[in-house]
Formats: sequence, structure tokens, C-alpha cells
Amino acid sequence: MIDDDVVHVGVDVGGTTTRAVAFDTALVPLGIESAPTLHGADLIAERVGELVAALGRSVASSRHPATIAVCMPGRVDVATGTVADAVNLGIDAPVEMGALLASVLGAPAHLENDVNAAALGTFHELGLGVRSSLAYVNVGTGIAAGFVLGGRVWRGATGGAGEIGHIPMRADGPSCPCGQVGCAEAIGSGRAVGHDPQRREHVVAAVAWTVQLCALTLDVDLVAIGGGLTEVGQPFLDALDVQLADRESVSPFLRSAGLRSRVRLAPAGVPLGAAGAVLAARADIAGVAQRAR
Ligand SMILES: [Zn+2]
Repeated sequence: MIDDDVVHVGVDVGGTTTRAVAFDTALVPLGIESAPTLHGADLIAERVGELVAALGRSVASSRHPATIAVCMPGRVDVATGTVADAVNLGIDAPVEMGALLASVLGAPAHLENDVNAAALGTFHELGLGVRSSLAYVNVGTGIAAGFVLGGRVWRGATGGAGEIGHIPMRADGPSCPCGQVGCAEAIGSGRAVGHDPQRREHVVAAVAWTVQLCALTLDVDLVAIGGGLTEVGQPFLDALDVQLADRESVSPFLRSAGLRSRVRLAPAGVPLGAAGAVLAARADIAGVAQRAR
């Protein structure tokens, strides 16, 4: 069998749209199918099944995909395929999402948290090597980060790594649905600022805070910024640079930490989540093979 026939499928289950992308082995997209996201674990799995089948027809591959990888919001236990806390998708208590997907697809699917997948996709797109480290900060309805350390996703002890949106910025800030006060997410997420352009400055301030957190705690090489609220691109980056310069201007310590020089925009127009899900699946398979040896 020649390698050219091999297809890897990544599916990104977003809050509004589910996108399935077929990739070749070099992770070049071969085709894409999308449809509105359905709510509830069973319907989500059915939708994924429909899109993967549609991709099989449009990409004209007679082979079953070598990899099927799915990323979605929530607390994802990669080992067991359990997903919880994806409230926007109608999933609250833990569900056996991996098993549901396997029964619909007729094959096992790797599951990953969507921000972790986007972090891996960004790591790949930025051309970073295995010795490099990246924090990817997603600024959308909420604020969350994914970490790729030494080329591997850091999921944490419970799969909950990267909830930096719930680290309070201010003791007197607005209350957050999580129960705390002054969370970055309560100040500068899409949910917090809505469509009010006057409050977009709050988003930049919250992201500057998360950049400082990532740089000072993990000392990552780069902090990439992505998500719906950053799609304006360079103007967002410019505003962020001004905020970081303000922070550095009062602190020789922050200046030497080089906050400003670590920031990048996540690549636009690329299916980062779908690509990252495939990368995560491959790393997982490689890890299993290594342990089996
Ligand atoms: Zn919070």
C-alpha cells in the first residue's frame, strides 16, 4: 500500500459548527465537510459519523481513515474517552463519548480537548521543533489555554490544565459563573464583553494578563493567541503589544522576561483543531507503541 492513499481525519466539534477535515500524511488538507453542531452526546456522535462518511465520498478514498481524531470542548479524559463539563454542547455529567463515537464510526476515535488540539495544531503550523514549548491562548466565549511542552500536550493530572481564564486578575472585579470574583474570563472574554466595542480593551487586558501568566509560570518559548475574538489579527496584536509594553515599563523584571517578544498570532485560515487532533492521536499511538516495546 502506498503512503499517498493514507488519509487521516480530524473533526473539530465547535460550539456552533462541526468541521471534519481529511489530511494526507504531511497534514495537508484534502477535503473538508461541515455542518451545524448538534447538542447532546448521542447527536454529536451521529453528526461526526455523517461528516466522516461524507468526507470518505468527497475525498474518494476507498480506505478507512488511518486515524480518526475528534476534539471538543470540556474536560476530556483521553485514556478513557470520557467527556464532562461541555455545558455549551449539552454535556454536563461525564459521558462515554469515545465509546459512542466508536460505535457510530465502526472504529476507535482519539478524543482530545479542543484547546489542547488547537495548541498542537498551532505548534505544528508555527514549525516549532520537539525541544520547543508553546502556550496557546484561546479567546472566544471563554478564555482557556493549551500547553505543548517539549512537543507534547500537557493535559495535567485530571485533564484540566489550561483553565487560566479562571485565575482572578482583580480582587474587585465582576463575579464569574465559576463562583470567584475578577476572573480573566469574567473581565475580558466574549461572554463578558458581548458586542460592546468600548469593552474590547478589556479583552486585550485579559489576554496580556494570560501572556504574563504563561511566560512567568511555564517560561514557554512562545505564547500564541487565537480564537474568535482575535480574528482581527494584527490590530489585536498591536493593542496587546501596547498593554505588554505598559507592564514592562514599570518592571525591569518583566522587561527581562521578554513578554512582548514571545507573542504570536495563531495562523489564520487553517483548521488548527482538526490538525491538532490528528497530531494528538498520532502521538498517542506512538506512545502506546513505545510502551508496548
Ligand atoms: Zn471564573
